[in-house]
Amino acid sequence: MSNNASNSENVSSVTKIPTQDITDSNQAGLSADTPPKPQTIELYASRKKIYVKEIQGFFQRIRSISLWLLMGSYFLLCWINVNGQPLIHFDLPERKFHLFGTTFWPQDFILLSWLLIICAFGLFFITTLFGRMWCGYTCPQTAWTFVFMWIEERIEGSRNQRIKLDKAPNSTNKLLKKSLKHGAWLFVALATGLTFVGYFYPIRELVPDLFTFTVSSGWAYFWIAFFTLATYINAGWMREQVCLYMCPYARFQSVMFDQDTLTVSYDYQRGEPRGKRKKSADPVSSGLGHCVDCGMCVQVCPTGIDIRDGLQYECIGCALCVDACDQIMDKMNYPRGLISYATEKALEGSESHLVRPKSIGYLTALVLMVLAVVYSIATRIPLELDVIRDRGALYYTTPKGFIENTYTLKIVNMADTLREFDVTVEGLPGGFISTTTRVTIQSGEVASVPISVETDPANLKSTSHEITFYATAVDNPDTVADSDSRFLGPPPLL
Ligand code: SF4
Ligand code: SF4
Repeated sequence: MSNNASNSENVSSVTKIPTQDITDSNQAGLSADTPPKPQTIELYASRKKIYVKEIQGFFQRIRSISLWLLMGSYFLLCWINVNGQPLIHFDLPERKFHLFGTTFWPQDFILLSWLLIICAFGLFFITTLFGRMWCGYTCPQTAWTFVFMWIEERIEGSRNQRIKLDKAPNSTNKLLKKSLKHGAWLFVALATGLTFVGYFYPIRELVPDLFTFTVSSGWAYFWIAFFTLATYINAGWMREQVCLYMCPYARFQSVMFDQDTLTVSYDYQRGEPRGKRKKSADPVSSGLGHCVDCGMCVQVCPTGIDIRDGLQYECIGCALCVDACDQIMDKMNYPRGLISYATEKALEGSESHLVRPKSIGYLTALVLMVLAVVYSIATRIPLELDVIRDRGALYYTTPKGFIENTYTLKIVNMADTLREFDVTVEGLPGGFISTTTRVTIQSGEVASVPISVETDPANLKSTSHEITFYATAVDNPDTVADSDSRFLGPPPLL
């Protein structure tokens, strides 16, 4: 009996779960029959302006280099011409894409699709290994926001000065600073919009045409205005909101993470319990961890989060909090790395693996795809041939008694030079082309060539013969394209 009593005492002490009354004060005291009062849940959270503190450090230096380099490439590449052709030019009216000296046609669309797939796989591969490195170091939204923040800091001053300026009543100084900042932002935004359109309308023509109001398409004005506005709003006003609410990558990138993925992480074991203390205080004897709770990691964060709360989808992996915390650790004479790039396994004290099945899989797929695309581009024949059979008549009989079929050949010269092509036909016994067989086609032109094929009716073994047309470049017999068609005639002579 006493045994049972003590057992039940033990069980109740083990299984007792602490509870808390969470009944809404509005609902408290209502009987079971009384319907609950409707409540309004606010789904919209208004944006709190983030005043980001500028920070210097190892990762900020890397970011600065990569972001300025990318911005520089964006603004300069469209100005570079090779052999009179822009290095990158998406010529939509002509349906041609000039990329680094190679012209791609709508027929090459599959190659461009593969290039995009390769970029996506590259992103997955990098994410698996290094988390959101793309977001922190190369994403255009990050790059432009970085430049806009840089301008803001130069004009309005440091974080504290900016907070003070925003709180201050309107004055000439405030108006001047704000106008200067927005003017500079609009200038960068306009340059961005102009450059973007310059990839579709050669920029060396666009800039003079724009200022002389002789741009050939009114759409150019529309798109410049559109991209100017989009850049100004995204990088100047929305900033981290684009990453938090508009970017799909932020939402699905976590599925590529595993315990071996490097992410910006706070070492909870080492940092807690956090607390303020004097520099001379010994954290061990004061029962504190290494986090001095200075809030620097939050002040430098462009998305305004506290990395000490753990991995969050808002974190773009920029590592500015790492630089900030390292500076504090240096000041306190504590080892660096309270916030660092670390894997979940490393934080748990286990060994991490850079090489693992997932990363090998991504890398293998990536290498295979790159090789396939390089091979396709290297062996690509810049020539297309299409045959359209004349539907007006099945066949004609010529004055000489031959059977004749007529066709229209569409020959596309996809090379960057004028070329001559020989047209031949095979598959028809005794068949020959009775019209012209040599065609000269300008670079990028599509030639429509009427062709007549004739044969002696004695050669026909049936009413229909499969034939093949060939177009062969005169200067290089390896540049050849073919296309199948049919030759129709009367029933064979017995
Ligand atoms: S910067 Fe470092 S020390 Fe300061 S609050 Fe953040 S984690 Fe703690
Ligand atoms: S938590 Fe750190 S790494 Fe993440 S966005 Fe903020 S500053 Fe960048």
